[in-house]
Amino acid sequence: MPGYMSLVFDCANCGRPDVANPILVLSIPARREGDHYVPDPNGPREPICRNCALQALERIRSDDPTLTSVSPELRSPDYFDRAYGTPAAEIDL
Ligand SMILES: [Zn+2]
Repeated sequence: MPGYMSLVFDCANCGRPDVANPILVLSIPARREGDHYVPDPNGPREPICRNCALQALERIRSDDPTLTSVSPELRSPDYFDRAYGTPAAEIDL
């Protein structure tokens, strides 16, 4: 896909490396401390990996009352595929 950019990063939640769409990737407020991230409500938003994003999306879609601002984008059914990519098998078709 021309112009498609991938963001390569270490997950701010679990530290696992992952690749995602830099605009759509799910992020959490965190700051870097040594070689890992710690949650920080005042920190910059740092991207999280697909496993952590799946867990976060489950909370978002179950209407967790502790979540205050959720982008409508995150509730769309194809958000995850667009943010974290489509399996290679499907791209080749
Ligand atoms: Zn993670």
